[in-house]
Amino acid sequence: MTDARHNAPILPPRILMGPGPSDVSPRVLAAGARPTIGHLDPEFQILMDGIKGQLKRVFRTQNAVTFPVSGPGSVGMEACFVNLVEPGDTVIVCQNGVFGGRMKENVERCGGTVVAVDDDMGKPVDPDKLRAALKAHPETKVVAFVHAETSTGVVSGAATLCAIAREAGCLTIMDAVTSLAGIPVEVDAWGADAVYSGTQKCLSCPPGLSPITFSDRAIAAVKARKTKVQSWFLDLNLVLAYWDGEGGRSYHHTAPVNALFGLSEALAMVEEEGLENAWARHARTHNALRAGMEAMGIAFLVDPAYRLPQLNTVFIPAGLDDAATRGALLRGYGIEIGAGLGPFAGKIWRIGLMGESSRINHVLILLAALEKQMREAGVSVPGSGVEAAAAAA
Ligand SMILES: *Cc1c(COP(=O)(O)O)cnc(C)c1O
Repeated sequence: MTDARHNAPILPPRILMGPGPSDVSPRVLAAGARPTIGHLDPEFQILMDGIKGQLKRVFRTQNAVTFPVSGPGSVGMEACFVNLVEPGDTVIVCQNGVFGGRMKENVERCGGTVVAVDDDMGKPVDPDKLRAALKAHPETKVVAFVHAETSTGVVSGAATLCAIAREAGCLTIMDAVTSLAGIPVEVDAWGADAVYSGTQKCLSCPPGLSPITFSDRAIAAVKARKTKVQSWFLDLNLVLAYWDGEGGRSYHHTAPVNALFGLSEALAMVEEEGLENAWARHARTHNALRAGMEAMGIAFLVDPAYRLPQLNTVFIPAGLDDAATRGALLRGYGIEIGAGLGPFAGKIWRIGLMGESSRINHVLILLAALEKQMREAGVSVPGSGVEAAAAAA
């Protein structure tokens, strides 16, 4: 007997309001269901070129090297580090959350030396600490930081950090996995050198692709390497022969053709809405959630000055059990929210309002369901979250 639950079509519907993946539009799902074609088919080459153009516009860059790496955001992260860090290189890693910690791991595995610039989880990267670290380590080649820390819901001042690094003659690696299409990402205006993102956060695609972009300076550094990139799959010198398209496109790996159909559709949807309109929508939806949560007496972890609209960290109301409440939201309403990480485990929830999930409908259903959980647990609810959110929307 096979377990009927293994049949994907009968999976219960979900409302994805965690740290990713976010809800995927039926248009993107339908695009992914188109008949598969060969990855060396000339028609597919047209699609690849189209995606490169779409990504340049969403990243706000003219960088020639802009394409989706075949793998999730973590692979995009790895692509940036393995190509830019050689054994013996000094890399400043600004860490204010979980993903900065992974950057350190990447540097060490590339044989680089990490200089840590640490800030508390829940706070942005302190530019003065970066300045001091660069002064103490003039040999630094790369400065790496996370623009939008999904573990805490904090945005760091990317323009400032890039400017400081560039002044010191360093390359930058910026994690834009959660920021891209949710808040402004200005690759060229900021002078960011190697930037990676992911498809399953504010782009609202299924997980599994990582858009990246490399500046000419970054590509020059890759070409000037003294050692081979230790990863064959992620060596840009080889991948580019596949993605470059200039006539002699050669087999490197088999691109995830149907996932790329979906990405192309999702990027078209972002452009139809307009990038600025998408940023404004994320801000509006966040404001509605904030009004609702505050009416219900629930506080945010992060100061409004550096709070992400697409990833909301709120304190779990006293008297509610973390796992039991998240479980009840999932079973009773199909709503997924994220747990706290590290020092915030059991203390906060991470509520994603990313891409297709950044809608007032999502906010209202979550607030209504949460209010019911609070009342059932005997937790006092000072005011109606639904009312306050609807009024703020
Ligand atoms: C989600 C995320 C990643 C990793 O992306 P995956 O697709 O899960 O591999 C990296 N950095 C940040 C900031 C993220 O939010």
